[in-house]
Amino acid sequence: MISIERALEFTLAAAAEKAAPDRMPVETVSLEMSLGRILREHIDADGDYPRFDKAIRDGFAVRFEDLSQVPAVLEILGESRAGQAANVFVTPGTCCEIMTGAPMPEGADAVVMVEHTEPLPPSRVRIMRTVRQGEGLLRRAAELHSGERVLSSGRRIELADIGTLASFGKAEVQVSKKPRVAILATGDELVEVREDPSAAQIRNSNSYTLYTEVVAAGGEPLLLGIGRDNVDDLRVKIRQGLNQDVLLVSGGVSMGKYDFVENVFAEYGVKVLFDSVAMKPGKPTVFGYCGETFVFGLPGNPVSTIVAFRMFVLPVLRSLLKASAAGIGTLRACLEAPAKCDPARTAIVPALVRFEGQSYRIRTAPWKGSSDLAGLSRSNALVVIPRAEGTLQTGEWVDFFSLESS
Ligand code: AMP
Ligand code: MG
Repeated sequence: MISIERALEFTLAAAAEKAAPDRMPVETVSLEMSLGRILREHIDADGDYPRFDKAIRDGFAVRFEDLSQVPAVLEILGESRAGQAANVFVTPGTCCEIMTGAPMPEGADAVVMVEHTEPLPPSRVRIMRTVRQGEGLLRRAAELHSGERVLSSGRRIELADIGTLASFGKAEVQVSKKPRVAILATGDELVEVREDPSAAQIRNSNSYTLYTEVVAAGGEPLLLGIGRDNVDDLRVKIRQGLNQDVLLVSGGVSMGKYDFVENVFAEYGVKVLFDSVAMKPGKPTVFGYCGETFVFGLPGNPVSTIVAFRMFVLPVLRSLLKASAAGIGTLRACLEAPAKCDPARTAIVPALVRFEGQSYRIRTAPWKGSSDLAGLSRSNALVVIPRAEGTLQTGEWVDFFSLESS
């Protein structure tokens, strides 16, 4: 059994080694669908930005020298609107009415805000304030020069990038394909969600929680259904999963007589990096790889499955997706009530978290153990209680995973 920290080190190291950003094949997606995807082309400015000297205030385009004495009265030669330049030349004693985003007329070198002017109909304006040269405008190419590299291949596409790509005319973008994540539930007792379980059966819930987690993380889930607790069936289904980028198997990794998942992993040559972690729930979590495929055996109890996914699968997916920090995705909160530690294992348990004042406040929630999905539904987070002697006191800081979707 290894510590949770060590297990995480193994996981992140394997992910960093194998999850090079150019590992995934490329596909073209529409701009609207590209948020969070990995860009697979370099993006250079398709022109100067701005493309012309541009007003950034509504007011009057002037020669700043004309305003050395204020108030000053200037003759209005015309109007420059956004999308429609004025065909005027601003000479001493004259100006041009101008709107934000409109091209600066020739001869003018500053914009006075309309708030600092008074109209003198029919064609003159009184200017009440002086301006500095270049005030109220943005020079051509002040933001970008034509051909300048703006986004490099391998970068994760974020909100501002969507706007940048749109402004460069990229209606379609080349991105990495999403990592394909095969999901296999195992257990002779499992029936599907639409079936009625007999006395000794239960419905498969892990396939659905895992599917949802994979989608939320930006992966492409592939449900392989239910594998039965015999080597023949597991061989067929695990083999299918080993063709994908990641394989998640739930159940069948404990010490039970019919827990064959690790045997089948071994048959297929899966290199197991760990199969027992000092955490609760989630102790029998298995992590390894087979060729290019990351392989996980997640303990079958529904809460354990979720905990192990958050702790170990998510960082691997984040590496494949090159999320900026391939960390484990926890936040920090202040304990509102004492929490007892376990000297042998890190505990990751249901909790109630809320944001108050400047920080998150958290307390553990009542639950009945690692099969208690209803207990997890009554909470909104998983709190990490470190492996230690004694009790964490109110006011101490802990890590947590939010269970609220964003
Ligand atoms: P196992 O890890 O196979 O020993 O399973 C541990 C517990 O989790 C058992 O009570 C199983 O019935 C339950 N379990 C296993 N797989 C699932 C699943 N897909 N959905 C819900 N419960 C499960
Ligand atoms: Mg089982």
